[in-house]
Amino acid sequence: MVTGGNRGIGLAIARALADEGHRVAVTHRGGPPPEGLLAVRCDVTEPATVESAFAEVEREFGPVEILVSNAGITRDMLVLEMEDKDFHEVLETNLVGAFRMARRALPGMLRARWGRLVFVSSAIAAVGGPGQASYAASKAALTGFARSLAWELGRRGITANVVAPGPIETDMSAAVSEARRDWAMQTTPLGRMGRPGDVASAVRFLTGEEAHYITGAVLPVSGGFGMGA
Ligand code: NDP
Repeated sequence: MVTGGNRGIGLAIARALADEGHRVAVTHRGGPPPEGLLAVRCDVTEPATVESAFAEVEREFGPVEILVSNAGITRDMLVLEMEDKDFHEVLETNLVGAFRMARRALPGMLRARWGRLVFVSSAIAAVGGPGQASYAASKAALTGFARSLAWELGRRGITANVVAPGPIETDMSAAVSEARRDWAMQTTPLGRMGRPGDVASAVRFLTGEEAHYITGAVLPVSGGFGMGA
């Protein structure tokens, strides 16, 4: 199950997992659902839709074995100008939404004594960025969350990892200013944007059998942006 799997990085992850032979469900919020994948409506900020989405996926495919928490938003602005609701909205989607999805997936994984949780964070989490306080805070918190899950679930065959993309070509990155894009390219050793498929490759690895001894890891897919932080 891939949240926000109707476009961008989430869709690339969903397609990569389907290519591996998984039965993949993606969540969407009412936009056009992608062809060839089971699409279930879910807004991760609305608990009732989280429940109905899981119920539908379990009815069609059985318990969720792999959860990729990818849905995310930005509301970039300076802290001085930020209202409570702006900060909350980002935390509620990027962090609380991921918690809500993971908690709902866990009983099935625990019964199976196998599971893979992957949280899509951001390279910005480690270095911060002007105007990105809420986003960076929410994405940094995912690491603490995933690492706590790694402790809670490690002995039950369930791993919890984080991927931290740098600048990737999607609708989200297209919305940033030219100046910001230039800055990102200057601070990215590879000097170019990544593609959604680059993140999908990392997720495919972390959810595969060969990654069974990896948990609590943060895997950057960033062209070197923020490396070492
Ligand atoms: P997009 O803006 O292209 O897509 C975001 C996805 O999240 C959409 O499917 C959107 O659904 C979904 N979504 C947003 N809010 C909710 C919600 N409340 N409930 C359910 N789904 C929701 O972003 P990207 O593909 O670029 O980003 C995917 C992830 O990767 C995000 O977590 C982002 O923070 C992260 N990331 C992206 C980077 C980049 O450069 N692109 C860099 C680092 C991290 P809908 O179509 O309905 O709006």
